[in-house]
Amino acid sequence: NNKEWQAAFFVIEQLEEAGFEAVVVGGAVRDALLDRPVHDVDVATNALPEEVKAVFKRTVDIGIQHGTVLVIVPAAPVEVTTYRTDGEYTDHRRPEAVHFVRSLKEDLQRRDFTMNAIAMRRDGSLVDYYGGQQDIEARVIRAVGEAQVRFAEDALRMLRAVRFSAQLGFSIEETTLQAMQAKAADIAFIAKERLKAELDKLWVGKDVYNGIKKLQESDLAVFLTGDFHAENWRGFCVQNKLFGWAYFALSQGEKWPDVLRSYRLSNKEMAFVKSALAAFHAFESGWTNLDYFTFREEELEAARYFAEFRQLDVPMPQESIQEAQAKLPIRQRQEIVVNGMDLLKWSGQKRGPWVKEALQSMLEAVVSGELQNERQQIKHWIEQTYIHKGENP
Ligand code: ATP
Ligand code: MG
Repeated sequence: NNKEWQAAFFVIEQLEEAGFEAVVVGGAVRDALLDRPVHDVDVATNALPEEVKAVFKRTVDIGIQHGTVLVIVPAAPVEVTTYRTDGEYTDHRRPEAVHFVRSLKEDLQRRDFTMNAIAMRRDGSLVDYYGGQQDIEARVIRAVGEAQVRFAEDALRMLRAVRFSAQLGFSIEETTLQAMQAKAADIAFIAKERLKAELDKLWVGKDVYNGIKKLQESDLAVFLTGDFHAENWRGFCVQNKLFGWAYFALSQGEKWPDVLRSYRLSNKEMAFVKSALAAFHAFESGWTNLDYFTFREEELEAARYFAEFRQLDVPMPQESIQEAQAKLPIRQRQEIVVNGMDLLKWSGQKRGPWVKEALQSMLEAVVSGELQNERQQIKHWIEQTYIHKGENP
């Protein structure tokens, strides 16, 4: 992402002109070294937040207590964070307070993994005190410093290691993995929202299977809600995190809503998962034309992926919902020329649950081609199927 780099380098230049030091750090440097697409290019600087704000016309305080200021420059907004060390960790989560420091080395030292602790100067040269380049070369995830201490400070780092192993296909260095085994239980201290954010990224990793295996090898799986069976994930590869959650739900059996809720999925996310599972079960029990009216494109797509992935032995429609509907007598429920009021009038019966059922079977009949979407015909059909049946069961 060229614009983001341009913006970051412009910000660095401005800070340097004002007499400060600034570098690109973290994920952007790692991903550039790996030739992966970069999304956020974060800048770190020895300038204090107030000093950063004085250098630029437009800034937004997005995390000033952690030293982060968003700097708005024409190319793109850039997150600028003051060099800092984390204060005491007392609850295995967030540090009590952060301390701003003037040295880059100290800032890099508080970072989680060697691959994330590399800085890049404006001239492209790298600052790499912890062997990050070597580890990237060897494709290993290694804690900066004493792994057990680092995981005791912030237990989320263990799940980050797993998430990165899925995203990058890296292995976890032996001592780091052992430290995870020793500290796995501490993952229970972490807020569910933060766990979800890491799982969101794990599901769309290029090697989810590797990630789930690491989850088991590290014993983290024992202390996380839900069942994680690596074998279920062999070859799993999706772009949409919700497909991941839906597939995860599929391995949880009946209790899936509780498991997913515990990770604080939103109502909208829960609704998607529910429909994707229903669509998948519709495949299992024989997909009908009517199902094109029940599900949405993305849900069908998810279900189709799961069915193919599980090598379900049922014929699966390869067409999209739109394509399939185009071939059907009607494309939407609303195209039916008869409504509930008509049914009541024609039948002379009282309102009741039967109206909804009748509308549904009418839709079924029209969609399957048994019944034409034409008022007289439908009236006749209603009289045949409902009224006469009702009088003469
Ligand atoms: P992504 O590509 O997913 O954004 P990232 O490495 O940029 O990966 P972020 O969560 O954006 O990850 O964090 C930016 C940087 O901040 C990391 O590269 C790492 O240096 C540091 N960092 C983030 N979270 C932690 C943590 N829990 N402990 C220590 N350092 C962390
Ligand atoms: Mg990032």
